[in-house]
Amino acid sequence: MRTTGNALPHPPETLDQVYRRGRAALAAAGGEGDSPLEAAFLFEKAFGLSRGALLSRGGEPAGAEEAAAFQAMVERRLAGEPLQYILGEWEFFGLPFSVGPGVLIPRPETELLVEKALELLEGIPSPLLLDLCSGSGCIPIALGASRPDARVWGVELSPAALSFFRQNLLANRAANVTAVEGDVFALPGEITGRKYRLITANPPYIPRGELGSLQREVGAEPPMALDGGPDGLDFYRRLPGLCRPLLEPGGALLLEIGEDQGAAVRALLEGAGYRSVEVFRDLSGLDRVVLGFF
Ligand code: GLN
Repeated sequence: MRTTGNALPHPPETLDQVYRRGRAALAAAGGEGDSPLEAAFLFEKAFGLSRGALLSRGGEPAGAEEAAAFQAMVERRLAGEPLQYILGEWEFFGLPFSVGPGVLIPRPETELLVEKALELLEGIPSPLLLDLCSGSGCIPIALGASRPDARVWGVELSPAALSFFRQNLLANRAANVTAVEGDVFALPGEITGRKYRLITANPPYIPRGELGSLQREVGAEPPMALDGGPDGLDFYRRLPGLCRPLLEPGGALLLEIGEDQGAAVRALLEGAGYRSVEVFRDLSGLDRVVLGFF
């Protein structure tokens, strides 16, 4: 009988073999993700090698530590953790944002809100801006980066989210943006003591009864960032009234909404006395942002 002692040592796996094994595992699990793209993101995180470098250097032996780190990340992904939490960073409006458990992952749809905000601010020098329910800080930091002359305040209630917001301020050198801990329904004096040209928010807007049936990855995100009350509209009932006294004459309120909330939120803004209310669609053609002036 042969003993294992006589076996030749395995040659180390190549970079390409390690990558393909991870990609195959992600593909076999199905799910909504794009497995080649996700495998490439995780591979780059573990090995520091881009897709391009992998193509030209795929035949080189893979480091054992990096291969183990890659495998561990693939397993977390297979267990339903969002890709963005595993990477620890995600891009929004061309800027890097630290993300992880406890904070909503910035969504590409939210870039529409930033674009609309920047259009509204064209020709207005040194505007004061307020963002409510800021989460990672993606909206205020993107606005501050695009408008260095603006002063931006962002309010967030969750300590976990606020700590990501503060990290993101530092990483993006956002000297004109301030993160404030606070409840939007009991705003601190630091916020209520001045008037703003524009107030933005991406509040929680998922109807509570739908929280349990969300995609597995969204279920890993903080319910506090998603739960909009029984019909998803809790924040839209209260924000228009509470923002009114904080707006300069001619100032605007710009809110992200769920795709089926356009008519309801338009009515709520009009009911609260906002003028020229408009609903804008995202790149998928879905209602996504509501604007009103006061
Ligand atoms: N856009 C998020 C989603 O669809 C919801 C974010 C929110 O409630 N503000 O999962």
